[in-house]
Amino acid sequence: MKTLHTHILGFPRIGARRELKTALEAFWRGATSEAELEAAGTALRARHWAMQAGAGLELVTVGDFAFYDQVASHIQLFGCEPARFGFDSASSPLTRYFAMARGERSDCCAKDYAAPHGSHALDMTKWFDTNYHYLVPEFGADTAFTLAGERLLAEVAEAQALGHRVKATLIGPLTFLWLGSARESGFDRLSLLEKLLPVYTALLMRLKAQGVEWVQVDEPILGLDLPQEWRNAFEIAYWLLAQSGARIMLATYFSPLEENLGLACRLPVAGLHVDGVRAAHELTSVCDWLALPKVLSVGIVDGRNIWRTDLDTAIGLLAPLLDKRGELWLAPSCSLLHVPLSLADESALDPEVRSWMAFATEKLDELATLKAALGGAIVPQLAEARAAIASRARSTRVHSDAVAARVQALPAGADRRGAPFATRQAVQRARFQLPPYPTTTIGSFPQTAAIRAARAAFRRGALPLAQYQSAMRAEIAHAVARQEALGLDVLVHGEAERNDMVEYFGEQLDGFVFTQHGWVQSYGSRCVKPPVLYGDVARARPMTVDWTVHAQGLSARPVKGMLTGPVTILQWSFVRDDQPRALTALQIALAMRDEVADLQAAGIGIIQIDEPALREGLPLRRARWDDYLAWATRAFRITAGAAQDATQIHTHMCYAEFNDILPQIAALDADVITIETSRSDMALLDGFGQYRYPNAIGPGVYDIHSPAVPGTDAIERLLRKAAQVIPAANLWVNPDCGLKTRGWAETEAALANMVAAARRMRAHD
Ligand code: GLN
Ligand code: ZN
Repeated sequence: MKTLHTHILGFPRIGARRELKTALEAFWRGATSEAELEAAGTALRARHWAMQAGAGLELVTVGDFAFYDQVASHIQLFGCEPARFGFDSASSPLTRYFAMARGERSDCCAKDYAAPHGSHALDMTKWFDTNYHYLVPEFGADTAFTLAGERLLAEVAEAQALGHRVKATLIGPLTFLWLGSARESGFDRLSLLEKLLPVYTALLMRLKAQGVEWVQVDEPILGLDLPQEWRNAFEIAYWLLAQSGARIMLATYFSPLEENLGLACRLPVAGLHVDGVRAAHELTSVCDWLALPKVLSVGIVDGRNIWRTDLDTAIGLLAPLLDKRGELWLAPSCSLLHVPLSLADESALDPEVRSWMAFATEKLDELATLKAALGGAIVPQLAEARAAIASRARSTRVHSDAVAARVQALPAGADRRGAPFATRQAVQRARFQLPPYPTTTIGSFPQTAAIRAARAAFRRGALPLAQYQSAMRAEIAHAVARQEALGLDVLVHGEAERNDMVEYFGEQLDGFVFTQHGWVQSYGSRCVKPPVLYGDVARARPMTVDWTVHAQGLSARPVKGMLTGPVTILQWSFVRDDQPRALTALQIALAMRDEVADLQAAGIGIIQIDEPALREGLPLRRARWDDYLAWATRAFRITAGAAQDATQIHTHMCYAEFNDILPQIAALDADVITIETSRSDMALLDGFGQYRYPNAIGPGVYDIHSPAVPGTDAIERLLRKAAQVIPAANLWVNPDCGLKTRGWAETEAALANMVAAARRMRAHD
């Protein structure tokens, strides 16, 4: 007798029409009440559970919903809200929740809390290697835990009242501690485990008493390089949790288990979920090591991408596991939070490409089909899926002979500039005659309401092309004139015509399609709609040359051409799973290389290739870093490789931990790199100094995330600090990042002070 179950680790919560976003923003504006926001959450949960039940899932997953972030919800659940917020007993849980998420603002609250240690929001950082951002718990020696939040238990009751059988989901205690930050330096988060575990146990007992059949406990850190003490802690922790009597499905995802495989299989839990997409090669070992009657849950449907599952391959992988074990659970590899909700309303999507895709809802159907087929039923959906997979595999829209030939014929030195940096620097100095401490910006200027309105009207078809172009040209002229008046040395055109730095290029490159509603939560109410890269990438025609040449025609100063780099385009899109990411990056690099060549041929002497996502592409496991960094930096160099010695290549990266990848940053061999450093008070630059970073650097001298106008003295102080670390001859002066989210008034005031500070530096030296 064979038993098959299907379940999911989590579901998108934002809603098909981003209802959660609408509800949140209305509440934050003060337009709706707490009760109205709660009602919106209740409606979304009910709808999403109904979809799960409708797809034949015996258990719906409860606890994946959050008004802002699941980690923040756990902070409340376990009563460890940081004391610095100074919450009083009168504030409601939701008020406190949003204060942690968004900071306390005197302008939106009747009462100014003004906590002694400030009340800025919790830090936000990336959830493993996804583009989802979670709120970072703050832990210290005095952190205490209590079972404080009733929300999870209430949601369980809500689901049960709707007639569902429930699997609750929780972030596991070790992952929860791992994700937090230590408030005092040297504080060991792991030391809190002893205090935390009784609260988990109490919660598990309550869930069990409430009739919850299974509790999924997520420990994705089992896929990381863990310090030995953390590995050791698992056994004792789960032995204690087992005392609750709850049936635990331990969930791992995003990464192979490797040296933690034996550990994960040994833990005293009722079931283990593994990522069958990213760690398919471990399935046999897990199957062997996981002793019956423990349940194996295989994450066979890709929760990180939007392609249909190859069901035949999946069945081939699963059938022997089912034979051996007699029971198997089938699931997506991870929570479906990371994919859009449904293809149903994607009416504008190319029908052929659409037939290859599966969003969260379609992934639920895939689970149902797999379950039926593995159970021996004849399922028509299997034939349909097979046809879609075959059509994708042989489509000439996916595979271009020209692109393949170009990759084949790529000469060995294509990723090298002609001369070494020192020579190029001399040639470029002679060409551009820039003063010491040259000033520039990162690319975008304020995206005003007028700009956005014009772009939207053009997209709707309400503004004819010629009018749209002249509106954008006027915006560019405006930006150029302002920069000249400010006395900036290297100008930009301002990116008025760009909606988004990846979408702008994706829309013009072959191999991409765009969804209408393919939103994925990034954090809180913020969503992104990643482009879908489905086929070989090629550039039909120049993408930025006209705008840039127009800008250059308006000034005698150099105007910097502005491109997005191949790794960032790759990282911020849903990309194909039928070839290595390295090859996709290379194809994008070749297309962008043509743009570099065309800009150069059109007389643009300085070209910036933005790579803010280079670091975030790092694999979760250190052992894979070298391989990734090798192809990622090569892709950048291939893009830049079209530049002659006299053409100056800039790159830009936002705030990131650069210290452990400095050799690879240097290997990009950009003539100038601009980075975000002001928030670290230039500390980020120390690593570059110690490494003796050879090329020029523009450390950001003010934070563009705030409307505050930095003073000339403050900027000068930062520049002096920078000049102690980096040779003055290699220093540039610029803001931290692009200015598109700022208004013109503060932008001009800040840049005027920045230019004044650079002039002071020149005068003193
Ligand atoms: N050139 C882009 C801009 O200025 C860079 C944005 C980014 O670094 N994310 O907006
Ligand atoms: Zn940036």
